Amino acid sequence: LAVIEAAEPQINAFLQVSGDEALAQADAFDAKHAKGETEGLPELAGVPIAIKDMIVTKGIVTTAASKILEGWVPPYDATVIEKLKAAGMPLLGKTNLDEFAQGSSTEHSAYGPTHNPWDTTRVPGGSGGGSASAVASFEAPLALGTDTGGSIRQPGSLTGTVGVKPTYGGVSRFGAIAMASSLDQIGPVARTVLDSALLQEVIGGYDERDSTSIPMPVPPMAAAAREGAKRDLHGVKVGLIKELGGDGYQPGVQARFEEAVQLLQDMGAEVIEVSCPRLEYALGAYYIIMPSEVSSNLARYDGMRYGLRVMPADGVPQTAANMMAATREAGFGDEVKRRIILGTYALSAGYYDAWYGSAQKVRTLVIEDFNKAFEQVDVLVSPTSPSTAFKLGEKMDDPLAMYMNDIATIPANLAGTPAMSIPAGLSDDGLPVGFQLIAPQKRDDLLYKPAAALEA
Ligand code: GLN
Repeated sequence: LAVIEAAEPQINAFLQVSGDEALAQADAFDAKHAKGETEGLPELAGVPIAIKDMIVTKGIVTTAASKILEGWVPPYDATVIEKLKAAGMPLLGKTNLDEFAQGSSTEHSAYGPTHNPWDTTRVPGGSGGGSASAVASFEAPLALGTDTGGSIRQPGSLTGTVGVKPTYGGVSRFGAIAMASSLDQIGPVARTVLDSALLQEVIGGYDERDSTSIPMPVPPMAAAAREGAKRDLHGVKVGLIKELGGDGYQPGVQARFEEAVQLLQDMGAEVIEVSCPRLEYALGAYYIIMPSEVSSNLARYDGMRYGLRVMPADGVPQTAANMMAATREAGFGDEVKRRIILGTYALSAGYYDAWYGSAQKVRTLVIEDFNKAFEQVDVLVSPTSPSTAFKLGEKMDDPLAMYMNDIATIPANLAGTPAMSIPAGLSDDGLPVGFQLIAPQKRDDLLYKPAAALEA
């Protein structure tokens, strides 16, 4: 808590610090420990954690960094929060994000941007820049994020932290504020691969309250990480995705990526190049499917049920429809409005087949490309992000340039596969570079062995 207090004026990673609650939880854990009642708890028992403000916390204000949820206190905990509490992990507070997790820089927060601790004139990536910066600046040893198109991995890349998007359905979405439900997934933010594995084991598992939860055992990720730390990768087949990397990627990013691939080979992995030609269309498909789901999910913020209510201006009839319009006009930021409009258009009668229908077909082609690649290899690799951290303000007026940040992370969301970003050293500009690994669905453990080997 002292580190948070010292760092926050420069970093702004937190929207809420729940210090009193965290200390009470820590005291309760200590008392249990003294009585010998903590046996059998996960290894992370007692370790504090920060939570992206996209995940609801009972009794602690949850805003998704939006004015429309200002002051909203959830009456229940997300499943992942229940699991953290059961594991004796105190909650340090709620971290900043792009409003409703829509963005790649954390500048679209209604409560000011988060800064990158490596260079505070630069962005930490997004949307989960708060969680990434909190971990990178030692304000928190661990954090949770949500990843719809890269919001855990891209900030991980830009801040030199480990970030994982689990298999879709591997971690319960119950209590994750819905952005694009077929893509959203909660996952760990950590400083080491093993920490991430241990955290994913705490939060993972089947949940009947999430209709897309997969009934399967939690993959043995910590064991895989420990195995990987021995740096022996004989028998591991790695696929280099031809379409991700090279042209359009910062030279220093590409260089660190190639060095990491060489390292995998030196440790005994068999590396081959694989082609996933339809990944070229993944970004386009994502920016149809995601806004479509956003337009539907965000319809619930109507001034009736949650947070903000703004009454119509003088002279405008005081009807529910006018109240709803005034509330949404005042409560949502520009990027959120842009996506609601795009999505409403893509779903509208006459355009539905041309836009939404086509995008869904492309999604199937992306899945086919991955399935074919995984017939040959255990894990696919690429740079996480085309560049290192950019300057605050640099891409705010150019949504397309902002969207391009996710070119390498989005395919895994479309396909529902697990994917991880780990630090791969610094680029020529002295800023962190991320290395991405992608594994087949339900095989999150396959990410952890090569990742831990590279880290060691
Ligand atoms: N940057 C992507 C977007 O703006 C990813 C968002 C996310 O993963 N939540 O859609």
